[in-house]
Amino acid sequence: MNSRDCDFLVIGAGIAGLYAALLAGEHGRVLLLTKASLSETNSAWAQGGIAAAVEENDSPQLHLEDTLRAGRGLCDPQAVAVLVSEGPDCVRDIERLGVPFDRAGREYLLGREGGHSRRRIVQAGGSSTGKQIVEKLSQLVTRHRPIELLEGAYVTKLLAVDGICYGANCIQSERELLLLRARATILATGGAAALYERTTNPPGTMGDGIALAYQAGAELMDMEFVQFHPTALALPQTPSWLITEAIRGEGAYLLNARHERFMSRYDERAELAPRDLVSRAIFEEMRTEKSDHVFLDLRHLKRELLRERFPNIWEMLKAHGLDPARHLIPVAPAAHYTLGGVRTDLHAQTNIQNLYAVGEVACTGVHGANRLASNSLLECLVFARRAVREAAKTTEPLVPINVNVSEFQGRVRPRALPPTLQQIMTNSVGLVRDHDGLEQAIALLTEMGEEALVGRLIAQSALLRTESRGVHIRRDYTEESPDWLAHIVLHKDRTSQIEKI
Ligand SMILES: Cc1cc2nc3c(=O)[nH]c(=O)nc-3n(C[C@H](O)[C@H](O)[C@H](O)COP(=O)(O)OP(=O)(O)OC[C@H]3O[C@@H](n4cnc5c(N)ncnc54)[C@H](O)[C@@H]3O)c2cc1C
Repeated sequence: MNSRDCDFLVIGAGIAGLYAALLAGEHGRVLLLTKASLSETNSAWAQGGIAAAVEENDSPQLHLEDTLRAGRGLCDPQAVAVLVSEGPDCVRDIERLGVPFDRAGREYLLGREGGHSRRRIVQAGGSSTGKQIVEKLSQLVTRHRPIELLEGAYVTKLLAVDGICYGANCIQSERELLLLRARATILATGGAAALYERTTNPPGTMGDGIALAYQAGAELMDMEFVQFHPTALALPQTPSWLITEAIRGEGAYLLNARHERFMSRYDERAELAPRDLVSRAIFEEMRTEKSDHVFLDLRHLKRELLRERFPNIWEMLKAHGLDPARHLIPVAPAAHYTLGGVRTDLHAQTNIQNLYAVGEVACTGVHGANRLASNSLLECLVFARRAVREAAKTTEPLVPINVNVSEFQGRVRPRALPPTLQQIMTNSVGLVRDHDGLEQAIALLTEMGEEALVGRLIAQSALLRTESRGVHIRRDYTEESPDWLAHIVLHKDRTSQIEKI
C-alpha cells in the first residue's frame, strides 16, 4: 500500500474542510481529501446564508438568546457563546479572503430567517451564498502551496490505536489504496440527511464521517435529532429542492390544501417560527387535510425581489414550470440537517487524541434539539478555526505507525446505500416516530450490517428518547419531558449513556 505523510489531514472539502485547510496551510503541510469533486458538497447548495451579529442593532448576546431558545434546553451554552462571539470575526475573515458578501453601501444586506429576533443573515449572491463561498475558498485552496488536494479520495477507515489517531486510509480514484499519516486529522465530512428518501441534500451525504469516527472509538451525541426543513419542493418525480426560509423572511406565506394561512394557529411568530415548529405544523395540516403537501405563496412578493435575492430558486421553479408570481408552490418537509454527530469539546477535539471534527459531522452542542437557521455555516467556520488553532499546538513529530497494514485496509470499496435503507429511514425514523416503527427499523437496519450503521444509530437514539423535543417528534410521547434534559451518548464498546444536563 502506498503511503503519504502530512501535518494536517483534512477529510472533506465543504466549507468546514476548505476553511480548515486554508488556515492549517499557515502551520504546515496539508492533505485535503474529498470523495467527490470540490463543487459537490452540501456547502455549495447552502442558500439562506450565515447568521452573525455583524450590525450595530444586533449583538452576540441576542444571537445567543435566539439560539438557546430554539435548542429547547439541549444547547451547550458555552459552545453557543463561542459560536456567536467568534462568528462575526470569521465572517469578516472570509470576506477579507474575497467572499463577496452582499452590501447596500457600507452595510451588509441582511436576510431574516425563522427564530431570529433580528435581520442577521449575511448573504453572498442572494440565495447562492454557499456556492459563492465554496468557489472562493476552493480557488484559494488550489493556489495555496502547502495544501495538496485529492479529489475522488474516499476515506474508508481512520487509523486509531489506543485512543490516538494517526491518519486514515483512502481509496483514490476507485483503485489505489493509500495510507495517509498525519499529526492531526480533521474530519469535515458533513451530515447524513441523504439517508432519507425526501432530502434536500446531495446524494453523497450519508454520514461517512460519523461511521468512521464511531468505528475508531469516538463518542457520538444527539444522533436522534435530524432536522426536516419545512419547505422543500413537493412535485412528483422531482428532487426535494430546498426553498430557503429567507423567502418567508421577506413575507412569503404558507397555505394549507384549502388555501388558508395556518401558521398563526401554531405560533405567534407565524411563518417565522423556528423550523421544528413550522415542520410540525405543516405535518399536522397535511395530515388533517389528507394531502402530501402544503403551499408556499410568493405571489404578493415583488418579482424583482425574488429574482435578485433568490436567483437560484427563481430559476429552479421556472425550470419546473412554476411562476412564483402566479403559481402556488407545493412544498413539504424533507430531511435536511444532522444535528448530532461526533462529540467534540470547545476546540473541536474528539475523545480520540489528534482527531478533530468540524462542521455538520460534529456535535459541538451549539444546536441542541433544533438548529437555528443559518447557524450551520457559522459553526463550520468558527470550529474549523478553533480546530486548527488547537491542532497547530501539537508539536509531536510524525510517528511511524507500527501496525500490521492489512489490519488497516478497511473496506476495499466505498460505502453504498442499501436500496431499502432510505425507505426504512423515511417510514420509521422520519419526521414523526413511534416505538413500534423504531423497533422494526432497528431490526431491519441491523440485518443490513455496516452499510446501515448510521441509520441504526439514529433509530436507536430515537427509540431511547421517550419524549418530543425540538426536531425529535414521537407520536407516542408527544410532550417535552423535564426528565429528558439529557444527551444520549453512543460509543461502540459501551451501551448508550444518558447524560443529564
Ligand atoms: C440545500 C441546502 C441549503 C442549506 N442552506 C444553509 C444555509 O443557508 N445556511 C446554513 O448555515 N446552512 C445551510 N445548510 C446546511 C449547510 O449547508 C451544511 O450544514 C454545511 O454546508 C455542512 O458543511 P460541511 O463542510 O460540514 O460538509 P459538506 O459541505 O457536506 O461537505 C462534506 C465533504 O466531505 C466529503 N466526504 C464525505 N464523506 C467522505 C469520505 N468517506 N471520504 C472523503 N471525503 C468525504 C464530501 O465529498 C464533501 O467534500 C443547507 C444545506 C442544504 C442541503
